[in-house]
Amino acid sequence: MRNSFFLFFFLSLIGFAQPTVPTDYFSHPLDITMYLSGTFGELRNNHFHSGLDIRTQQREGLPVFAAADGYVSRINVQHFGYGKALYILHPNGYTTVYAHLQKYAGEIEEYVKKQQYHKESYEIQLYPEASVLPVKKGDLIGFSGNTGGSGGPHLHFEIRDGAQRPMNPMLFGIELKDDIPPIVNGLYAYPVGDSAHVNHNQNKSKIRLVKIKDGTYTTERIEAVGKIGFGIAAIDRLNGGTNQNGVYRITSQLNAKTSFDVRFDRFSFDETRYINRYIDYEHFRINRDRIQKLFRESSNPLSIIVEDFNDGFLEIQDTLDYSYTISVLDFAGNETTIIVPIHGKKGDVMIPKSEKKWTDVVYANYATSLTKGKFLVYFPIGALYEDAYLEINAQGDTIHLHKDEVPLHKSITLTADISQYAAEDREKLYIGLIRYRGAPRYVPSRRSGEKLSATLRNFGKYTIAQDVTPPRVTPVNFSEGKWMSNESFLKVRIDDSESGISAYRATINGKFILMEYEYKTKTLTYDFSDNVIQDAENNLKLVVIDNTGNSTTFETKFYRKPN
Ligand SMILES: [Zn+2]
Repeated sequence: MRNSFFLFFFLSLIGFAQPTVPTDYFSHPLDITMYLSGTFGELRNNHFHSGLDIRTQQREGLPVFAAADGYVSRINVQHFGYGKALYILHPNGYTTVYAHLQKYAGEIEEYVKKQQYHKESYEIQLYPEASVLPVKKGDLIGFSGNTGGSGGPHLHFEIRDGAQRPMNPMLFGIELKDDIPPIVNGLYAYPVGDSAHVNHNQNKSKIRLVKIKDGTYTTERIEAVGKIGFGIAAIDRLNGGTNQNGVYRITSQLNAKTSFDVRFDRFSFDETRYINRYIDYEHFRINRDRIQKLFRESSNPLSIIVEDFNDGFLEIQDTLDYSYTISVLDFAGNETTIIVPIHGKKGDVMIPKSEKKWTDVVYANYATSLTKGKFLVYFPIGALYEDAYLEINAQGDTIHLHKDEVPLHKSITLTADISQYAAEDREKLYIGLIRYRGAPRYVPSRRSGEKLSATLRNFGKYTIAQDVTPPRVTPVNFSEGKWMSNESFLKVRIDDSESGISAYRATINGKFILMEYEYKTKTLTYDFSDNVIQDAENNLKLVVIDNTGNSTTFETKFYRKPN
């Protein structure tokens, strides 16, 4: 009896060893039933999702509460990213994060505003001492919103460990109704070895799935030989939601022995960009569908891969039979299984590997500089995950830098010779990404004499562009000479059609006013309750600068009954 209990305990430990965490410590940060629009580890652009996206009834302004006792350890206000975010450090070492807030509550809001006025900046990073803003579990800390890089009202909620690594908040005892198993959208085979094939094809191929019963699929018997791997496109759905969420765990077995085990319990922000190595990036860029590869290639240190045998690759021998099984799980334990029978068969390869061999070779483990026309491209060590042939050529002011189908892990530097431009024109130049339509998208560019350079995170077509058009400023809720006594806010629309907004500064009667910038609506908002105004007659001055230094000064006069 005792032995079998021990054995069971041991097996469950190695088979499903979730981190040990408190499951009754944190409470729900909203006082409504929890529905999620995003799960932990979900596959996003260039990162794994680091928290839960909690639905807020399609609106802003729901009260947000501290999930446990602690103190506000960090406040971050950014135009992009997390928007208005708040971090609480708890005595047990975990940090909870609340992002995309509409505003902070009470004393916290006052504290932030004071610092923003002091620094004369909307964007701000604060690290208050423990004694400044202590909180108790359930205290009102802010209101849910849609600030920063948020695609609709919701609360982004994170739990981080003592090393600031995001953890799956579901581990902490959050209960959600979910009886829908993960949905598999595609199974793919990857012949890897030089002489390997799958169904006599040396290229990646999609394998047709045959449903046996709900949650269980099989495939026709595959003929293969050599080193191969599999990849899977899968999503999860939650009850009461229509979102395509991330799955929690994918395991694969070859003849009942674990081949690969990926689990979204915890990761670090340092490794999140390796998602571009983990998924089939080219497939994603072409099809907008993310295949998770159930094998570990070079330059993939991801810690979400908790177990693997032979890096998840299969070595299929001629004449032998194998059973390969993939199981996809959501956090509630709902499971979808795929059984892949494989028969080892040497044979004439019918479809050879189609490889494009471009002339430029860039190595993963060496720095490389390439000169093309007036451009110099510098690849640092580790810019690429693997050595690659690239198609790089320049024509006039434009450089074709391969295609955004090969991922860049580290940024590369593009430097252009701009000596043929008149000195006074150089100031307005920038490097832009050529898109399907519209002006080239500004890439942070630096000018130094006759050189213009930019740091690029993606391949694509780039050009030297010029922006001589200053930003546009349009009042939203007032006009020259208006009485504004009944208005709570002063709203101005700012827009720049080329290089984009870089900075703005507003004053009333010479005094700085805090204007909150929402890039999605291109709006600057001043809250009259900040009480900067003391006079009836008010001169508003707003200066807006774009990324090449063109500036617009907007001045107007309005009236407001003094408080
Ligand atoms: Zn989120």
